[in-house]
Amino acid sequence: MTLKTAIFLVVLVVAFAGVGYNIKRIIDFLRVGKWTNRFDNLTERLKRTFVIAIGQSKIMRDPVAGPIHAFIFWGFIVLLFAVIESIGEGILGTFSLSFLGPVYSVITVSQDVFVALIVFSVIFAWWRRNVTKVKRLQGDAEEKKDASIVLYAIAAIVISLTLTNATRIAVGGQYAHEVRPLAAAVSGFFCACEKTEAAFEIFWWIHIIGVLGFMNYLPYSKHLHVMTSIPNVFLSDLRKKNYLKPINFEDETLTQYGSKDIEDLSWKQLLDGDTCTHCGRCTSVCPANITGKVLDPRWIIVATRERMIDKAPYMLAENKFGFESWETGMQAAWSGGYGTQAAHATHEEAVVEVKGGVTGTLLGTQPRLKKEDVESKKFIGDYIPAEMLWQCTTCQACMQECPVMIEHVDEIVDLRRNLVMMEADFPPELQASFSSMENNYSPWAFSPSERAEWAHGMGIETMAEYAAKPEAEKKEDLILFWVGCAGSFDARAKSISRAFAELMQIAGVNFRILGTEEKCTGDPARRMGNEYLAQTLIKDNVETLNRYNITKVVTACPHCFNAIKNEWGDFGGNYEVVHHTEFVQQMLAKGDLVITKDLEQRVTYHDSCYLGRSNDIYDAPRATLESIPGLEIVEMERTKSKGLCCGAGGGQMWMEETQGKRINIERTEEAIATGSETIASACPFCMTMLSDGVKTKEAGDHVRVRDIAEIVLEVVR
Ligand code: SF4
Ligand code: SF4
Repeated sequence: MTLKTAIFLVVLVVAFAGVGYNIKRIIDFLRVGKWTNRFDNLTERLKRTFVIAIGQSKIMRDPVAGPIHAFIFWGFIVLLFAVIESIGEGILGTFSLSFLGPVYSVITVSQDVFVALIVFSVIFAWWRRNVTKVKRLQGDAEEKKDASIVLYAIAAIVISLTLTNATRIAVGGQYAHEVRPLAAAVSGFFCACEKTEAAFEIFWWIHIIGVLGFMNYLPYSKHLHVMTSIPNVFLSDLRKKNYLKPINFEDETLTQYGSKDIEDLSWKQLLDGDTCTHCGRCTSVCPANITGKVLDPRWIIVATRERMIDKAPYMLAENKFGFESWETGMQAAWSGGYGTQAAHATHEEAVVEVKGGVTGTLLGTQPRLKKEDVESKKFIGDYIPAEMLWQCTTCQACMQECPVMIEHVDEIVDLRRNLVMMEADFPPELQASFSSMENNYSPWAFSPSERAEWAHGMGIETMAEYAAKPEAEKKEDLILFWVGCAGSFDARAKSISRAFAELMQIAGVNFRILGTEEKCTGDPARRMGNEYLAQTLIKDNVETLNRYNITKVVTACPHCFNAIKNEWGDFGGNYEVVHHTEFVQQMLAKGDLVITKDLEQRVTYHDSCYLGRSNDIYDAPRATLESIPGLEIVEMERTKSKGLCCGAGGGQMWMEETQGKRINIERTEEAIATGSETIASACPFCMTMLSDGVKTKEAGDHVRVRDIAEIVLEVVR
């Protein structure tokens, strides 16, 4: 064994021991969270990993930063082959993958291409952080230093690789099938002499130490995502996009409702903290943050990791695990146990030393804070200001943009649940909505007996009336028109209900309403954190619908649509659910509705978050508008999946917006800037917010906000 080999083996063993130690620490920390099963449906998970993580599909939503990051990511995958070769060379003296033949040529050409792209991307990324100072990338001094170290390390690794290859080629050490245009060009600067052989050794050591050092630096860096992003995408939530997991109130082992601290979050939510790239994409699209509020979705994820780093070492020392082991968690998952709200179990035999030999403290090898300091600090309050949580509109924009599939909204609602149900600590104005939902089955204080008054004089039958009819008079194509609380009580939204009902009457649709039997879907209560109240309402509604054997539901409210379609299944309510924009489009396509008039005006369509981002319905409303002769449709700057929220979701409709600019004003200004006479909407909440916006901007004399159903009714009547 040569001296070089001996030294290399020592370096390699130390480096991999460090990596192994850090991976174990990361996994141990995750185990303070609760069990959640993210190992189901492996095919779908692999598909998602391939598209989002390997294919970098979400990263590419940013046309500038996207390609930069993708080049670095793909480059590192290709360069993994170079790492294998370097380790082989270190152990065997000389080693290459040239036995792969022509495949090796492809690998080596790609490596040189990606080295060039990575160097370019690193310079560009450095420029964006330090010269143009892109807002979303600006962090504190520590974060800036960390980002610079990572960029310099990447540059050092790829440049030293090229110089290693160039010097080897210069002294005649080129392997069979090796095609390296960049290294070959650089080799021209070196002589075929001993000095170059010495230079080769220097570059080789710089490269391999750079790689091994980088692997060991990452766990102590904010760039841990280099290791965790692919797993995080693989383990992301496969359920519907805007879906909240229910709390099992019958589980007597539950000690907390919602999440008070890291031990109440799931291990996957803790992994989100490890995976956050600090890219700020989420915050840059957050309507609350954009309008000057303190809510910063990135901070919520970063603070979760900070709390985990502070608290987990003490929990591990006391064997406080959220689930017994990964193995038992998996076994329980297959047998239906260990739900997402599983009680804490203690892993008696786990022995975890919370004493560190490593000086770094990020992963808690030596806890950053004293135990009493950790105990005196509150997760909600000292790490995450409660004010942040109450500013969220649950618009999902953060989750849509996050390149590594972090689930912000679930965590925000989990924390709200704890504040509401355990602490009774919530904005005081919510009390009136909660009371009203309890007593009137609507967040607005109207009498339930007035629920169907919007339909007065329209001759619309209720389900109770329909059920009382002889069987011979009933048809199989019955559809329930779910009106929703806004459509039933709000003065402006009632005209949307009337317009849509009239369209269905013109088209001869066999529909009924529940009338006074309808109750709030539970969506506002759920998003506000009052899960108990939400479940009470949902169960009552499901019981009613199932009693009438309802199979198909149509609604003009995206919030009701999302709740019934995506969440009621957990409570035994399984129906075909259609939003009225799709239904109108279908009625037009079938010829049941016929457009008889032109409408000469400019229209801009505002995407409801609960219809668009949450349920991918972007085309139906636009197709309907496009089918009206004379209409000129113009898009706002932020549109479709990048559309800006109106500011009403997540219970904001019933909360005071006291900080910064009002979100509805920001959106209304954008709509007015298109020069449109009509702002088209497909949601009663958006209708309220945009109408208020138009009023505030004193633009009511030349801009109107109208629902798609109202616009269509004008041209078919
Ligand atoms: S859901 Fe919307 S409002 Fe809430 S944090 Fe995400 S982007 Fe901000
Ligand atoms: S949560 Fe996602 S989008 Fe936000 S900073 Fe972290 S990685 Fe970026």
